[in-house]
Amino acid sequence: MRQQRPSRHTTFHEVLDALRQEGCPICRLGVRAVSRQFDVLSYEGVNDPGSRAELRRARGFCHGHAWQFANEVHDGLGTAIIYRDVLGALLPLLRPRSPAAPHRSGRAGALERRLLPQAECPACRTLAGASRRYLDTLLAHLSDADVRRRYRASHALCRPHLAMALPQARDRPGLDLLIGVFRERAEALSGQTLSAEMGSLLVEALVGRPLAVPRTVPFPEAAQTPQPLPPAAPRIEPGAGCLVCGAVQKEVSRWLVAALAATGGLAEDKPLVDLCGFHAWRLTELAPWSQTGPAWQRAARRLLHRLAEPQETRPPEQGVWRELGVLLGIRRPSSEGETLATRIAQRTCPACEAEAAAAMGAAKGVLSGITGSEGALEAIHGVPLCRSHLALVLSLAPDEAAEWRLIRSALARWQALHAELGEYIRKQDYRFRHEPYGPEVDAPWRAIADMAGEE
Ligand SMILES: [Zn+2]
Ligand SMILES: [Zn+2]
Ligand SMILES: [Zn+2]
Ligand SMILES: [Zn+2]
Repeated sequence: MRQQRPSRHTTFHEVLDALRQEGCPICRLGVRAVSRQFDVLSYEGVNDPGSRAELRRARGFCHGHAWQFANEVHDGLGTAIIYRDVLGALLPLLRPRSPAAPHRSGRAGALERRLLPQAECPACRTLAGASRRYLDTLLAHLSDADVRRRYRASHALCRPHLAMALPQARDRPGLDLLIGVFRERAEALSGQTLSAEMGSLLVEALVGRPLAVPRTVPFPEAAQTPQPLPPAAPRIEPGAGCLVCGAVQKEVSRWLVAALAATGGLAEDKPLVDLCGFHAWRLTELAPWSQTGPAWQRAARRLLHRLAEPQETRPPEQGVWRELGVLLGIRRPSSEGETLATRIAQRTCPACEAEAAAAMGAAKGVLSGITGSEGALEAIHGVPLCRSHLALVLSLAPDEAAEWRLIRSALARWQALHAELGEYIRKQDYRFRHEPYGPEVDAPWRAIADMAGEE
């Protein structure tokens, strides 16, 4: 996707400017870079063949960016063009006897893989590139007295960006400044009664601004049982949207609220300390600040504890292997910045694990619904599944009959959606604008839900 890269001089001034504003400067600049990419795409880029080919390969934007695009740009026509393209790339894979349809004799394999993104989400790439560029610029100027003064007066880097910055700090004073300002800010925000507005600054300091830090979604196949709460069996309820998305969202909300209720002691605060940004912000939507506030403050204090731990706690064998690696020149001795970064970095998000486990449970539920003689899903025509959950359910299908049922259902649903998007695009033309909308009126948003997952 074509993007104009700002000059080094401009980048530096953008960083200085962001340091004067609220919240983490890198989060602010990274999210802004994506918003600008969306504006350009909506204004001209949807007609750019390169951008469209890239989006087709990526199967559209990732979940977070697909909904960010929908909610920020409100561009029905652009959305319809993007997802009509994506569906156009997927339909031949599903059609029986089509030359493009992957050979399914080995089962599983080919089709599931080709339903998944074949390239990185273009907005994720912009976000990663911009965050790296702005962070490098900040670090390169951190020895400058004026920059140091401004950094000290700023809201400082959030924890995920601090963890990225620490191993790259140029010198000891830079490292001390980065850690010192973060520590002071976390202490201040966790030591006083906060309004909900100030509270969101605390959450931002701990996990970054919404959509500013890329999320790594774990594979449902590798789902671990999240601590401290085991997940409940998700309920599959027939509905218009993806059956798995619906069940997973309910289960994750339940899990988050239950995890919040279980916090209190130092040991029980662990789940909150390691929540990823996506789930941390979801929790702030699910419960009022009066409930989440004290728990976030305890999580901040727990993080400060981790930072202050005198030594790295590592099993002795691992230490020996590491030393041997250093001796043989396979590993670099870890710098202090790296050590500090590993102490504060988020560990595996327990809500992501709950989500992966729920997706797996729900996918199996869908399968028993279509394969069992009296399954609840037999009653409904079609099996609504979003793109990635279709891939998941297909990978678990016990036999070809179940596979075909899923594929036929997706084919019918997506062929209709493809046609509706075409109709939506046609009616945007000035010659047909007087024609009233039919059921295609919300097709662009249904297409996002089907390709990227329910919001
Ligand atoms: Zn940040
Ligand atoms: Zn993305
Ligand atoms: Zn889904
Ligand atoms: Zn998570």
